[in-house]
Amino acid sequence: MLSSLFVNVCIFVTFLFFSGVLSKKYVIGSRSLSMPVKISSGLLFGLYGIILMNYSFPVGPHVIADMRHLTVVVVGVYMGWLPALLCGIVLSIARIALYGWSIAAFIACIGLLTVGFLCAWLSTFPWSRLFKMNVMNLASMAVIFVTLSLNLNNMTTVMRYYPTQLIISVIACLFLYVITEHIDSSNVLFAQLQIRASTDHLTQLNNLRQFEWSLQNEMAGAKLSGESLSLLVIDIDHFKLVNDTYGHAAGDEVLRDLGKILLDQARPLDIVSRNGGEEFTVLLPNCSAPAAFVLGEKIRKAVQANVFKLPTINQKKLRITVSIGAATYPADTEGMQQTDHVLVEQADKALYQAKNNGRNKVCAAGRLEPLHPSAQLIER
Ligand code: GH3
Ligand code: MG
Ligand code: MG
Repeated sequence: MLSSLFVNVCIFVTFLFFSGVLSKKYVIGSRSLSMPVKISSGLLFGLYGIILMNYSFPVGPHVIADMRHLTVVVVGVYMGWLPALLCGIVLSIARIALYGWSIAAFIACIGLLTVGFLCAWLSTFPWSRLFKMNVMNLASMAVIFVTLSLNLNNMTTVMRYYPTQLIISVIACLFLYVITEHIDSSNVLFAQLQIRASTDHLTQLNNLRQFEWSLQNEMAGAKLSGESLSLLVIDIDHFKLVNDTYGHAAGDEVLRDLGKILLDQARPLDIVSRNGGEEFTVLLPNCSAPAAFVLGEKIRKAVQANVFKLPTINQKKLRITVSIGAATYPADTEGMQQTDHVLVEQADKALYQAKNNGRNKVCAAGRLEPLHPSAQLIER
């Protein structure tokens, strides 16, 4: 019996691990799980239960046990009432469909349906997961006690073997709780690390690593499609002065607000990043050089017009300006070594030019003399 129990636990743990891999991108236990996710998880755990039915193990003559009810319990605790109910329904149908019709099968089928309904109801209570799991398990075991009593029709036999089943179920439930919590917290940590690896903590924009990855991707796309790819490199003018005058925390506020302005001004498909310090970039897929210049101007004007409030300095109001360098692939990189970074180098050169020409300017790599903000765009 012990070896069968061991096999059952191993199978269940494998299922949980597999479910953990599948659910990596979902926040388990959140209310935001979509209907297809809930339905498919209910059906999947139903399938797990069916497989576990095949590994039933004897706890006495004519008395077998398995862990099928724990699939309803686990999916109810971690995914909610609908998956628990679906899992119970799948198990009850499978009990008759796979093992044939008899009075005992009918009673077992009704028992599984009851387990499904009970666990679905109990999953709605605002208890801790550990408490909920134990309550659901004990409720399911109470139902199993009734079905066993009806099917065996002999209380002495039931009372001889049921305690073993109950003990196995309680221990297995606690073990599964530990494993599921571990898988769940690993998934949460993995998701957090993924966000941290690609996001700038101050502005929540993309960080340098994510920018470089996007640049590589977008450049490959532009080379394939023949579309233009533009880049704006944006640097705050005299930002050191803001820090020196109002302090680093106030400077951080300005950086955060600037990030919001950039997101507001950019198109939805543009990739806005903070590449470090007070330097930002906007990567513009399918955007020609004149269109990039227009967007650069739009950003420059929006920043100039914005009043930055400094909550840490008594709501002090502040204005800043930015200098912007723009470059476009392939227009500004022709005849150069075609690395992804050539676009960044060209935009950096244009930014340098904007700084040297008095700041608060947009300069395009293709025409390195400063373009007056009011200048007409000339199509190249
Ligand atoms: P320029 O117009 O030539 O760009 O002048 P600048 O003062 O903006 O440029 P500089 O490179 O001399 O100074 C950049 C400043 O940005 C210095 C540094 O203290 C500040 N800085 C860099 N990262 C952060 C940050 O995360 N938070 C804050 N508050 N300041 C930062
Ligand atoms: Mg600067
Ligand atoms: Mg700088």
